[in-house]
Amino acid sequence: LIPAMQPYASTIFSKMSALAVRTGAVNLGQGFPDAEGPPFLVEAAVRALREGHNQYAPRLGVPELRTAIADHQRRFYGLEIDADTQVLVTMGATEGISAAILALVQPGDEVVTFEPYYDSYPAMVARAGGTLRPVRLRFPDFALDEAELAAAFSDRTRMIVLNTPHNPTGKVFRREELELIADLARRHDAWIVTDEVYEHLVLDDVPHIPIATLPQAADRTLTIGSAGKTFSMTGWKVGWITGPAEGVAAVTSVKQWLTFTGPGIFQYAVAEGLAMDDAGYAHLTDELRARRAQLLDGLAQAGIRTNHPESTYFAIADLSSLGMPDALSGMASFAQEHGVVGVPVAAFHSGDAVQESAPLVRLAFCKSESLIADGLERLQRAAV
Ligand code: PMP
Ligand code: GLN
Repeated sequence: LIPAMQPYASTIFSKMSALAVRTGAVNLGQGFPDAEGPPFLVEAAVRALREGHNQYAPRLGVPELRTAIADHQRRFYGLEIDADTQVLVTMGATEGISAAILALVQPGDEVVTFEPYYDSYPAMVARAGGTLRPVRLRFPDFALDEAELAAAFSDRTRMIVLNTPHNPTGKVFRREELELIADLARRHDAWIVTDEVYEHLVLDDVPHIPIATLPQAADRTLTIGSAGKTFSMTGWKVGWITGPAEGVAAVTSVKQWLTFTGPGIFQYAVAEGLAMDDAGYAHLTDELRARRAQLLDGLAQAGIRTNHPESTYFAIADLSSLGMPDALSGMASFAQEHGVVGVPVAAFHSGDAVQESAPLVRLAFCKSESLIADGLERLQRAAV
């Protein structure tokens, strides 16, 4: 491995899923749902397969999906986007994130992001030769400190990577916070890359506000979405980037050399999915909200302190009451002893924050009622 990639040899999600398989523990780690997505989407993919959409899709993605993405951005957020120049379909959000960072970050550039962060951001910033400037969000409220954010920007800032709703904290950024970010980005002439893969999974009565809807941010923001989370089809790996044409063209210049294009069949199906009616969208969160309540109530009963995630698939638990001194080094023995796997939050941190978040563990609630009940029973037993 080249030196820049040595810290990123394996994602924490692969490690934790392997640990769960090895120990037979309940896997509340990697965020993939137990339940299938909407059946009509599966039918749409099968139809696309049978209709013969089996050769290379166009470089930018199939026109039907690009149009559906532009329609979606207009319908939900009032954004006007040209489907031919301002939309790029990617192999999941992961490829969009990687291509955007590799396209826009050069050695010596700085990239601001919030920590705990989704782990692909630091890995790709490192590969691009950039320096990450993480801004702490602290358990259990994960509030944004304005002064810390402002201090992270410099004349070398090239980009801020935002993630709202935010993995792993479940935080939905508020308008005032987004305005602050947008103003700082403008002042420092930085790109805003915003990962909004959980946009339709907000579980409380707070609006998801795409930062691209702020007038001062629109011309410098690349917005990333994904069908994986919206439709509970994480294996389909259909994502997209929307934004100003020159930004999308820059990302495309890298994306074409990574995969050129992804499977067209799933793109046709996702186009149908995005056009589903309001009731279909509203229904996406029903089950997830119930599972969040189940997990949070069960943890509270065991005397385990948690955050209150407003969105996403995840809650964060402080397992120090179960004698967890350091989840990064101790998750393997915890899984062995208590039969539950989560993701150490320290894996989403750098510097001092690694140690400070040592007993924090991310637990997924995008799982079946019985699996969560099983996990909770084991945690409650561990707590006595
Ligand atoms: N960003 C965030 C914040 C995520 O949680 C995930 C994983 N769901 C991704 C990106 C990757 O998305 P995809 O599976 O579409 O590549
Ligand atoms: N996004 C998922 C999570 O946060 C995992 C994606 C992956 O395994 N790379 O758990």
